[in-house]
Formats: sequence, structure tokens, C-alpha cells
Amino acid sequence: MPLMPSWVASANAADHPFPLNNLPYGVFSTTQQEPRCGVAIGDMILDLAAAEAAGLVVLHEDAVFDVPFWNEVMELGPEKWALLRARLIEVLAQGSPDQSAAETMLVTQSDAEMHMPFLVAEYTDFYAGRHHATNVGTMFRGAENALPPNWLHMPIGYNGRASSIVVSGTDIRRPWGQLKGPDDDAPRFAPCARFDMELEIGAVVGSPSDGPVSVDEADQMIFGYVLLNDWSARDIQAWEYQPLGPFQAKATATSISAWIVTQAALEPFRCNTPPREQPLLSHLQDTGPMLYDIDLEVTLAPSGGQEMTITRTNYKEMYYSSAQQLAHHSTSGCPMTAGDLLGSGTISGPHKDQRGSLLELSWGGKEPLTLPDGTKRSFLEDGDRLTLSGYAQGDGYRVGFADCSGVVTPALENPYERSK
Ligand code: CA
Repeated sequence: MPLMPSWVASANAADHPFPLNNLPYGVFSTTQQEPRCGVAIGDMILDLAAAEAAGLVVLHEDAVFDVPFWNEVMELGPEKWALLRARLIEVLAQGSPDQSAAETMLVTQSDAEMHMPFLVAEYTDFYAGRHHATNVGTMFRGAENALPPNWLHMPIGYNGRASSIVVSGTDIRRPWGQLKGPDDDAPRFAPCARFDMELEIGAVVGSPSDGPVSVDEADQMIFGYVLLNDWSARDIQAWEYQPLGPFQAKATATSISAWIVTQAALEPFRCNTPPREQPLLSHLQDTGPMLYDIDLEVTLAPSGGQEMTITRTNYKEMYYSSAQQLAHHSTSGCPMTAGDLLGSGTISGPHKDQRGSLLELSWGGKEPLTLPDGTKRSFLEDGDRLTLSGYAQGDGYRVGFADCSGVVTPALENPYERSK
């Protein structure tokens, strides 16, 4: 598929993340406008609350865009999602008879503040990248036992926290927690000293389910995707992790990008999961290409310092697709809801410079990275800004994700001694 030209000129640049082919959905506000739904086109946002009020884009008899979340649109179902996308393409395409009406409803992105694009119903995080699981398993259990015995048979996950999911641009406070190194006699309560990132893609569930769903059904339930950074406190994790898994180490914050890239926009970039080393049980088997070819990158910039790319990888490195994760999630009968968010798991490639966490990049702190100013990084320092970016490369256009960034701010004073 080639570039679809728009009358919004900035959308037609070959390297712009938001051409007419993309049309990602977000929630924005300006000094004049309360938070509401919008669609990004080039450097602009089409105010969908205004377009709905004027009768230009109507999806339902009730207003669904004059609200600060996309959940109501998700609940209308995939047929309405397709109608909305088709109508937006009509309105924003080059030569559209609606241009003069829609022009009055455009807001410049740099004048807008972005908010969480949807109400996160619940958050589940997976551990579904083969290279990441092998690297982490090698560090913690040795190369012989790197992958747990169930890993090649199911996408392993855990139930996370929806309450600490934040939109890109939100500062991330270094957490306190219970720490105990292997040589310490006793645990202590202290600020995390091994604060880390996890480069992931988040799948946004749009259609509910109430019982087990097939991989095909799960694929149809996904509304879109965001970039996701699952901030991780490795020293808290190491002490609390056994036998149940992540808890406080993952509860501080999870950042997501502000624009939801729809599954429809990613259709041309579908690709297969890697070859199966063990055949999957039939209910988890691939029925078609359900991963996406999305180039991903992370940069780290120290406070006042130069930005450096610390990893480059691709979403197609995942062993399990989001549809397989969602199908597995439903096998118990667990109901899924519009606004459920599934983290893919850390996306690492096979090579050292393709690893999706500092834990892997610095190999547990043994091989620190050197930044342009000469300082070393094994884990994040206060003031560091991390930025995740990504896009799918088409023929003369890109379907891009909005950046997902956050700055690490210093730990507060001991929260239990403040009042003394
Ligand atoms: Ca994670």
C-alpha cells in the first residue's frame, strides 16, 4: 500500500509518523478546550468532539468523542471502529469535500496537552520475548535452566496494576522498597539502586469477552497498540520475586505513549511469530500472521546531557503475539473488558545492542554502558530521560507511534520518617 495523500500537508512527508494511513487516537486539551478525543494527522489533531457536534463525524446517536477516554468508542465494537476509520479517511483525504469544514476543527499538536488515551480497566504484563527470557534466566538461573519448563508452551504473565499506568511525559519517582543483596545478613528499607526500563508494546483490548476465546477471536478483540515502558526496580524484584513473581518491583509506574495506533493501521505490517521449537497446544496455535514488523528504539539522555541510543530492536522478535496472550488469558474463563491493557513483555533481539532492558544491556551491572559524556550506566540515575520510539516502515510512508518518555526524579526522603 502506498502513502495515502491528505490535504494536511505535513502528513504527506515520507518520514512523518502520522500520515493518513495511520490516524492514531488520543485525548488532548488546550487552553480553550477540556480533554476530549482527537485523531492525529501530520502535525495537527482533528478535534473529534467538534466534528461530532457539527455532524461531520457521527458514530452513534449519543456523543462519544466529547469525553476524556476512548473506551466508549471501543465498546461500540469492530464494525463501528471500521466505519470511523473509513469516515476519517474520507474527511482528511486530499480533495475531500469536507476540507473547509474540517480545517476549522484542527488543533496544532504543539499547542495541545496529551492525556491518558483510555481508562485502563486492568493491566496484565507478559514475559513473552524469547531473547529477554533467555538473558534474564541465564543471569538468575544459569544458561542450562534459562527458560522455565513451561515457557515454550504458554505465554507467561502476571496481573499488574492499572492504577500506576501513566501517559508519556509523566515524571517517574524513584521508589523505596525492601532490599537484600546476596551477601547481606538482613533486608533494609532503602531507595531502589537498580532502577530499570522494559521496552514493550501494549495491546489495548477493545471488545469484551466472558469466557475462553480462540486466537482468531482474540485478534479481533484488539483495538490498537501503544509503546509501553514497564519501569522495574531490579533490586526490589530480586528479593521479593520468589516464589510468586513481580509485585512492588513493577508497581511504581508503567508509561504508555499518548496515541493509540489502531490495529487497522498496522494491517500491512503483519508478520509471523518465529518458528515453534515445541508445538503449541491447539488452542494457542498461530492461525495467521499476528505479530507486526515494528522497528523500536530507546534513547537515554542524562540531565542536561546528550541523548544516546541504547538499543534498537523489532516487535517481530516476540515469541508470542498479543492475540495468543489474550487467548491464553481467557482460558480460565477470566472476563476481559474494553480498556484492558496487555504488556507484550520485554522485546529484546538476539544481539547485544538489541536488548530491551538495562539489566540485559549491562548484564546485571557487569558491563556498564558508556554515555557520550564519559559517564557509565548500569541502571538509571536521577535526571535520566528515557524515550521509546517506534514505527512500521511502509512503501514511502511510515505508521509511527508517539514517543513514550519519562524522567527519573530522585526518591523522596524516607516516607516513614517524614512525620517524626
Ligand atoms: Ca514487563
